[in-house]
Amino acid sequence: MAAISAVTNYKPSTPPLNFKETPTQELFCANVFGPAVMKARLPKPVYKSLIKVIETGAKLDPSVADIVASAMKDWAIEKGATHYAHVFYPLTGATAEKHDSFLSPDGDGGAIAEFTGSQLIQGEPDGSSFPTGGIRQTFEARGYTIWDVTSPAYILENPNGTTLCIPTAFVSWTGEALDKKTPVLRSMQALNKQAHRILKLFGHDDETFVSSTAGPEQEYFLIDRHFFFARPDLLNAGRTLFGAAPPKGQEFDDHYFGAIPDRVLAFMLEVERELFKLGIPVKTRHNEVAPGQYEIAPVFESSNLATDHQQLVMITLRKVAEKYGMACLTHEKPFAGVNGSGKHVNFSMGSAAVGNLLDPGDTPHSNAQFLVFCAAVMRAVYKYQGLLRAVIASASNDHRLGANEAPPAIISIFLGDQLTDVFQQIKGGGAKSSIEKGTLTVGVDTLPPLPKDAGDRNRTSPFAFTGNRFEFRAVGSNQSIAGPLVAMNTIVAESLDYCATKLEEATGGDLGKLNECVQSLLTEVFNECESIIFNGNGYSEEWHQEAANRGLLNNKTTADALPALGDPAVAELFEKYNVLTGRELESRLETYLEQYCMTIQVEANLTVEIAKTKIFPAAIRYQNELASTCANLKLVGYDFDTDTLDKVTELVKCLQDSVANLEKTMAHEGSEDLQAESRHMCDDVLPAMLEVRKFADELETWVADDIWPLPTYQEMLFIK
Ligand code: ADP
Ligand code: MG
Repeated sequence: MAAISAVTNYKPSTPPLNFKETPTQELFCANVFGPAVMKARLPKPVYKSLIKVIETGAKLDPSVADIVASAMKDWAIEKGATHYAHVFYPLTGATAEKHDSFLSPDGDGGAIAEFTGSQLIQGEPDGSSFPTGGIRQTFEARGYTIWDVTSPAYILENPNGTTLCIPTAFVSWTGEALDKKTPVLRSMQALNKQAHRILKLFGHDDETFVSSTAGPEQEYFLIDRHFFFARPDLLNAGRTLFGAAPPKGQEFDDHYFGAIPDRVLAFMLEVERELFKLGIPVKTRHNEVAPGQYEIAPVFESSNLATDHQQLVMITLRKVAEKYGMACLTHEKPFAGVNGSGKHVNFSMGSAAVGNLLDPGDTPHSNAQFLVFCAAVMRAVYKYQGLLRAVIASASNDHRLGANEAPPAIISIFLGDQLTDVFQQIKGGGAKSSIEKGTLTVGVDTLPPLPKDAGDRNRTSPFAFTGNRFEFRAVGSNQSIAGPLVAMNTIVAESLDYCATKLEEATGGDLGKLNECVQSLLTEVFNECESIIFNGNGYSEEWHQEAANRGLLNNKTTADALPALGDPAVAELFEKYNVLTGRELESRLETYLEQYCMTIQVEANLTVEIAKTKIFPAAIRYQNELASTCANLKLVGYDFDTDTLDKVTELVKCLQDSVANLEKTMAHEGSEDLQAESRHMCDDVLPAMLEVRKFADELETWVADDIWPLPTYQEMLFIK
């Protein structure tokens, strides 16, 4: 009640931003030590050498570090910075920072601002409390952060001062990756190398780095903070563990692309403004399907930059939401029965010199090249379905996948009718068909010029071709996009390697034979991988059946999906392309299993606590009220219909029993074996939690509203 009146009486605490004073576009990159600032502040040779590293992936010359550091420090101090921080990305998926002051004692009782090249290049946070999956014992906690030149430093503004932030990789003292960034960089390098082999066959000899590109669309919920703080489950687990369905849900689809409420719009404008300052090119904003759900998407960038920027998007959303009296929920499934949130990762690859390699183009020649890259992606997804499913696995994403609102846990590709048809023609035509007969031969005869939007959209596919890129739609809203990108870069590199090797051998250096060889390669790849293509309704029951017949994997839960990281073929893949060593991969599997178990453990604890200390007391208060009314009425000779009392009494008993059962399930002796433990969490603990919820939610529909101890779905989703 108090929460509702606080919400409806919400007044903004700060005056609205004045967008006329400083137009947002003028702020773009205002807080970024990017190419423009570097050009203005660095000696020409230093600037040139840095740009070369950034654009071509050349080796960094460490001797420039002192000069860069000093320019960076001056720039940052002019912007009011007092500290610098090496920012790194531990396996928790969060962003970590270690702040250090620019000031050092000068020995004469004063202080001087100092920032050396070695401070820029390397830092040493005490990383002992970050998960490493056994790579490091805590007593040998040494870890290093290493400057990533390819992701520009930036200034983060806080009410109490600003900090120069330097994106870094985080490795152990033995050089093993402890973070999400290192493998992104390594996998980009692998992709670049293999893409160049294909490009060379098609006559490109430009050296420009071929980078994978990513455009992540972030979905999120906004609710008022008063509600948020009244819900221990949201606060601690990021999702509601209880809550009956509201009378009005999302049936009307009236929220999707509807008008954006004022407070939310003000919030969005400020988010965009902050992100613009950080050089993050946010572009679209709109309402999503569920009430209270929204989306923000930037223009795509190179994977590494997009990954760092995506982390900043999540941080900024949360921070600005607070300022507007709201909480931003990035959990995949904050509300049962209401659409969850995803993070569609749009993926392609290219460079300034060769353009977007997944753009079909409209000449036969570029079609052939496009078809090779497209076939490589197809083969990659087919061969490594299990890996792709594993990198999007988390306790929270499990609630969303396959729940008739998000793609199923089966990995398949939506190609669209037109492209599927093109591949089918190639397959049917084969190398035998001649131009004279008018059949299609890639690159010689004219393939139909492919329109940019090759057919309709398919929202039910986990991995969809959308005209000039693939969209990995099964990624969860709360996940770092690093894992999915590492997987995609690496598996596509492996397939490009395969295709390049085949084509190099088949042509034997005679590029006159290229088209013919491409034709047979495409036929072969399509024959092998056709079963991964599915253009129909991914939500349907028939698809589950059909996918099983096709032999596609269907790893429904994280406990089923994560073990794919332990697959020897996956270990070999990552070793071969120098993305992750066997030990690094193992440590990840262990860390993610641990996170899965811990998440469910915390949720189970919360379920017990809320059921016992909030819901049970409310229920028996109401029960008591009913019982005394009944007794009193009887005393004065009236009848009392005890239906409600009977129902509440029955539900209270069921609640108590189910809580006792959950506690018993949790008391099971923990296993050292994390995979066994994850199975226990998945198969025993989660169902026991759901059982408690079932009775609690039913009680919610009986107990008097004024004693119900938690804000309801209706309140949280509809009162703004
Ligand atoms: P929709 O919701 O219709 O899928 P959006 O416009 O919300 O589309 O998001 C599309 C995303 O795809 C944007 O982030 C966009 O920058 C990104 N994108 C477009 N082209 C590429 C590309 N070549 N590589 C990666 N991402 C891309
Ligand atoms: Mg999309």
